[in-house]
Amino acid sequence: MTAFPEGTILGYPRIGRRRELKKAVEAFWAGRTDLFELEGAAAELRAATRDRLASLGLGRGDSSIPESFSFYDQVLDAAATVGAIPARFEDLRSADGTIGLAAYFTIARGEGDRAPLEMTKWFDSNYHYLVPEIGPDTVFSLSSERLVREVAEAVAAGFVTRPVVVGPVTLLALAKASDDAPDGFDPLSRLDDLVPVYVELLGRLRAAGAEWVQLDEPALVSESLPASTEQLADAAASALSVLGEASGRPSILVAAPYAELGAVFPVLAAAPIEAIAVDLVRGGIPEAAEGLAGKTLVGGVVDGHNIWRGDLAAAFDRLEELRGLGAPVSAGTSTSLLHLPHDVADESRLDPRLVSWLAFADQKVEQIGVLARGLSAGRAAIADELDAASAALSDRLHAPGVRDGAVRGRELTEADFARVASAERKTAQEALGLPVLPLTTIGSFPQTGEIRRARARFTRGEISREDYDEFLRREISSVVALQEELGLDVLVHGEPERNDMVQYFAENLDGFAVTEHGWVQSYGSRATRPSILWGDVSRPAPITVAWSAFAQSLTTAHLKGMLTGPVTILAWSFVRDDQPLAETADQVALALREEIADLEAAGIAVIQVDEPALRELLPLKRADQPAYLDWSVRSFRLATGGAAAATQVHTHLCYSEFGVVIDAIRALDADVTSIEAARSRMEVVADIAEAGFDRGIGPGVYDIHSPRVPTVDEVESLLRRAVEEIPTRHLWVNPDCGLKTRGYDETTASLRNIVEATRRVRAEVGAVV
Ligand code: GLN
Ligand code: ZN
Repeated sequence: MTAFPEGTILGYPRIGRRRELKKAVEAFWAGRTDLFELEGAAAELRAATRDRLASLGLGRGDSSIPESFSFYDQVLDAAATVGAIPARFEDLRSADGTIGLAAYFTIARGEGDRAPLEMTKWFDSNYHYLVPEIGPDTVFSLSSERLVREVAEAVAAGFVTRPVVVGPVTLLALAKASDDAPDGFDPLSRLDDLVPVYVELLGRLRAAGAEWVQLDEPALVSESLPASTEQLADAAASALSVLGEASGRPSILVAAPYAELGAVFPVLAAAPIEAIAVDLVRGGIPEAAEGLAGKTLVGGVVDGHNIWRGDLAAAFDRLEELRGLGAPVSAGTSTSLLHLPHDVADESRLDPRLVSWLAFADQKVEQIGVLARGLSAGRAAIADELDAASAALSDRLHAPGVRDGAVRGRELTEADFARVASAERKTAQEALGLPVLPLTTIGSFPQTGEIRRARARFTRGEISREDYDEFLRREISSVVALQEELGLDVLVHGEPERNDMVQYFAENLDGFAVTEHGWVQSYGSRATRPSILWGDVSRPAPITVAWSAFAQSLTTAHLKGMLTGPVTILAWSFVRDDQPLAETADQVALALREEIADLEAAGIAVIQVDEPALRELLPLKRADQPAYLDWSVRSFRLATGGAAAATQVHTHLCYSEFGVVIDAIRALDADVTSIEAARSRMEVVADIAEAGFDRGIGPGVYDIHSPRVPTVDEVESLLRRAVEEIPTRHLWVNPDCGLKTRGYDETTASLRNIVEATRRVRAEVGAVV
């Protein structure tokens, strides 16, 4: 067995410094290139990654370089490798039973009436994985040698990489029961059938030259999965005992990032594996446990989830503390670097001072190199690097803008967090004169090629501010006219001026910086460019008011102002780590509060504050959830607390799993809440009714994730289902989410059908409000 290297990362961004993978994959999907060209582009990218990692200080020959490439998603990779695909895709296998790349993409994206795998958020990140579907009849068999070939490819290029694969417990714990499974079926019950395929895979990886393999088992840290911690621990013990006993396998590193392992740590310590990676950014040093002797502990002290350079000296201290457990220690990132952009050196437009406080993926790799050197040569050998990081940290602490007296000097009282009583608001809002089952949309209208081109030309300086504004006014006018023609009740301006619902606000608030190349994979070929929230947040000038007021001037209907809420702005940015999130959220909330006051002054009577990310930031540990829900709800209430009784405050949430967050949603105290419901055929209305939700609620009737136009009958039946469960006076009619990703033809046809269906249902429920 070769020893585990002194330092490593748990994974590296797959998309490429200039989103090469996105371009290659999308060209293939569009039929512009063939499989051969796509495979070539991907191999080039992998080779570039290995070279880069070696040049940044990870060793060429010692398994410190992970092989963590994926064409789309690592969970789908693991599912395809073990053959766990839904029955509806079985015919896509090649003659030899393997799942090729074209089949893989079809499973990810669907085809005709074959629905793709569902997509959902990966732990508490903004990365989305594909949810495997597993039933009693799922046949597990090694169905893809892709990872084995990648190892061979690396070996041929002179590297000894460490293949990374989602482990069997996590694969099953994240899976959902297949459609044909009996009620109550638990995919985890198939563990014993699945593990032998991993045994076979490990053998092949070893034969291809892998000395180590990394099994990612983040499910073990989560308390937010259907399986209990005890079930997960048992599953891990059982799977690892089999894998550990297998002959001809590589050494096994089990990585369990995103939170503290807690009670599962002793299980891993006792398992017949060779190394354990623990997240020391999110969790503390584990307690000594039996079986650790001879195992390597990879201390995840470099934050893989955020872009700050951080306190390197403190990170080294933690590694030394970890050594106290008596096992050999290696320096690691807390999670895969998948959540980070590639390289801060690519950012020529950021303030150099800000740059000196940052570390993107490549800089984190360099930090690992430093820590690893410290572990082998002693602290003195890396004193200069530790000091430099500490100096940057203290520079950051004292830099102008990081702490802004005017922002910090504001005194808040409890009254700032509450609106007037809802009964009083209800009466005041009757003046809005809305009909029963009011019709609205979630905010954005299609972002056409024309809009994107105009924005790009404006950004490049090819058209003037005046011309661009004139273009946007024309766009808004046509969106307003369309809604009037369709007969919607509460109109929107369509958000054509926004590139992204968070970045737009980041660009207009102090305390944020926006990157040029800071792309991070969101799902598949999609990437987002999170803004950097580095300083105290304030609003130098009104942001949305002119657009909303302009739109309102075009119509006698109510025009809904559109803001992104504080929690979502935090969730989809890289947020400063030098103060509690709650404090940062309140600063954002106060800026939004000023915006709301200005919208009101401009005659806007309905204002929506979107919080689609409220659930995503929910901590994985149950004990941490109440505090999170408390500050997140309070920040929303602070943002909206100043709104007059007559102002109708809406919020929008992008999902329908209410469960743990229903009380929080109620506590937001919005007058109207819109949620996603069309995809799950209104299943959620029963929960809403049961919870006795007594405010306006708009369960979506149009699945905007699909190009399909719902028929009038379909929408009508969804509405009837809602009317059965929820008092009509509370019901609103709206799509699941914004329309920005859709085209105009389908949007117009769908909205027309929604209006017609609403008329039918209204005729029947009449004035029963
Ligand atoms: N107002 C936003 C839109 O319509 C909301 C999007 C979201 O919730 N993700 O685009
Ligand atoms: Zn949404």
